[in-house]
Formats: sequence, C-alpha cells, structure tokens
Amino acid sequence: MDAFTLIVGAALAALTMAASMGLMYLASARQACLVDWTVAAALFALSNGLGAIGLHQQTNPIVFIACVNALHIGGHFGMLAGVRRHLHLAPGWRWGVMLMAGLLAAHALLVVREAPLYRLVLFTPFVGALNLGAAWLLWRCSEREARAAHLPLIVLQVLSALQQVARVALMLAYDGHPPAFLGGDFFRTSGALAMLAYMSLATMCCALIVTHQQTLALRRASLTDVLTGWLNRRALHDIATRDFRRCHRTGASMFFITFDIDHFKPINDRYGHGVGDSAICHVTALSARVLRGYDTLFRIGGEEFAVLIVGEHAGNVCTIAERLREAVVGAPLTVEGKPVTMTVSVGVAALDADDHQWEDILLRADEALYHAKQNGRNRVSVHGRDVAGRGQVARLQAVGA
Ligand code: GH3
Ligand code: MG
Ligand code: MG
Repeated sequence: MDAFTLIVGAALAALTMAASMGLMYLASARQACLVDWTVAAALFALSNGLGAIGLHQQTNPIVFIACVNALHIGGHFGMLAGVRRHLHLAPGWRWGVMLMAGLLAAHALLVVREAPLYRLVLFTPFVGALNLGAAWLLWRCSEREARAAHLPLIVLQVLSALQQVARVALMLAYDGHPPAFLGGDFFRTSGALAMLAYMSLATMCCALIVTHQQTLALRRASLTDVLTGWLNRRALHDIATRDFRRCHRTGASMFFITFDIDHFKPINDRYGHGVGDSAICHVTALSARVLRGYDTLFRIGGEEFAVLIVGEHAGNVCTIAERLREAVVGAPLTVEGKPVTMTVSVGVAALDADDHQWEDILLRADEALYHAKQNGRNRVSVHGRDVAGRGQVARLQAVGA
C-alpha cells in the first residue's frame, strides 16, 4: 500500500464521517455536538484531500503545506469542540480558529519551513493536547450511565495522542530517516494509515455516543412526570421492586410516605386547571426541599405522591413526614395576588418481615393516608401507630411508637 492510496482512503473516510454526522443531525437536531463533529470531519477531509494532491505533486509551496496542517489541527479541535458541547460546555470555536491561524503563521518560521521532522515535532504537542483534552473531559464530566458509551472515544483519543508521540519519537531516534514502512516512506505512510483508522473509528465512536444519549433521554422521559419532574408510576415499579428485594435480603428498613393534597378539586373548580397545575408544582417543590437528595420522589396519581425511603430510622421518617406537612401549610400559594393556603394529608408505613412485595407497604401507607383524611386532614398518620392492622404489634415496634 502506498501513502497516496492510504491518504485518499483517509479523505474518503473523513467525508463519510462528515456525511454521517450531518445526516444524523438532520434526523435529530437536538444533538448540536453533531454539527461540531461534521465540521471536524469536513476539515479532516479537506486536509487529507489537499494532502493527497500535495503527495501527487511531490514539491509543494509552504502555503500549501501550512493549509494542510492548519486544517488537520482544526479537525482535532472540532473533535474536542463536539465533546465539550456534548458535555454542555461552550465549544470554544474561537480558540480553534486562533489555533489554526497561529499554526499558519508558525509556518513562516524558518525551522518549520525547512524540514517535515520539525513540523511534526512542533505540531504534535498541540494535537496530543487536543486529543487528551477531549479524553479527559469525557472521563471527568460524563454521568455514570453514559460512561460506557464514552469509553471507546476516550480510548481512541488516547491512542491517537500516543500514536503521534510514538511517530515523533521514532523520527527523532532515526534522525528523520526511519526505515521504509509498508513499502513506503515511514513518515507519510504511517501517518496516512493512522488517519484512515482514526476517521473510521471516530465515526463509530461519535455515533455510539449520540445514539446512547438519545436512548438515555427517551428512558428518562418514559420514567419522569412532565408536570413536576418527579418519577412516575413506571419508575416506582422498577425502583421499588429493586429496593424491596435488597431490603428484604439485607434486613434494611424501607418506608413509604404517601401524601395527597386536601380539597384540591375546589382549587381546580375556582381558579381553573392551569392554577391547579401550578398548585401541584408548588406542593412538590415545597416537599422536595424537606426531603433529602437520596429519597426517591414519585407522582403516583393526579395530586397524590409517594416518597420511598430506605435504611432510615422509623422516628426520622415520621419527623420527615411531619416536616413535609408543615412545609406545605406554612407556604401558601399566591393566586391573583392573594394567598391560598394548601394542606396535605400524609400516610407512613414501614416494611414488615412478612411482606411479599413492595405494594404491601404502599397499600398500608395509603390506609394511613385514608386515616389522615378521615381524621380532619392536614395531619400525618402512621400505619401501626394510628392505624391498626395485620401484625399491628410488630409494626408498632417498627415505628417506635
Ligand atoms: P381530598 O381532600 O379528599 O383529597 O379532596 P380532593 O378535592 O383533593 O379530592 P381528590 O384527591 O380526589 O382530587 C383529585 C382531583 O385532582 C381531581 C382532578 O380533577 C384533579 N387532578 C388530577 N390530576 C390533575 C392535574 O394534573 N392537574 C390538575 N390541575 N388537576 C388534576
Ligand atoms: Mg386530594
Ligand atoms: Mg387524590
């Protein structure tokens, strides 16, 4: 294989990446990082295309070489810009343009103009820094769920940086004249081969990241309530099943606090459904402030909610439930400039040793909630303390009553 064929192959691979990223963006305009990666691939395609022409002509003016190199570094910057945008950081294309302009200017330096080896030694740290910067950001900033999808691009970027360093080291070791490689000039053939592999793999890595991100977004949307942002019933089933099994096995405690807004229908009837929706959001926002980051919050009905608490003392759970009630009654909703006091009735229940499924706990929490409604509303009822039932003595002990 000669360097010319390889570099044409790399240009075609870059064009394929540009087309793939661009078309994926047209299909789903939400992923703006695809634009950066389209631009990056287009810059690589231009750089490789010009490189192929240059190779064909044998001798090239320095301006031509400067453009090939500046476009190449622009491509690596584009990869980093896409990664930054994917991680919700500013892509910083201004710096990319400055870097490309700086490199063009650097070709005016005598030492850069004279030998390809010096050009390689001068540019490698920049390319390596861009590659490693993208890998580091992906590693540092990615959410746990997304890390597996980020890993291939992290590895590719690190390999790209290592490959650059290895080539420079070999060039220096052989004083600019290393042995022939794949039947051609080492410097050009290995570079073109590495570029071909990089473009092909980068296409797959970037497509994987975007597809995985879309899958995660869909999954989140299917588990989240649109109005409040709390988890929905589908999520309740998945999370409660998992936690119930774990708590049953380990003997850890598990609680449900359920609550329902008191006399909510009149709010809807008097002020309309829009204000009703705001009232629901008002209550969930107040409740979320009282609850801790590791409590799991669900909207299980129109204005009915459940909180799943694991590994906590019964007394603390009752205190949390009471604080939740106080938070809602203590912060009226303002409607048409007037305060409208809202209240919630709260039910609490704990996991019993003879429970077979998480629904048993939720059912008891609902019984307690019903008790709170029956006994004046705006109060907390605890199953086993306020509500008698099967195994009452055990539950009384469980909640420390
Ligand atoms: P109680 O004190 O017994 O709970 O009385 P209530 O009036 O609150 O009765 P209930 O809990 O049965 O009220 C449910 C009402 O909530 C009925 C329905 O119109 C309203 N609702 C359910 N979902 C929504 C929603 O998403 N938005 C709005 N605005 N109202 C909703
Ligand atoms: Mg209600
Ligand atoms: Mg209700």
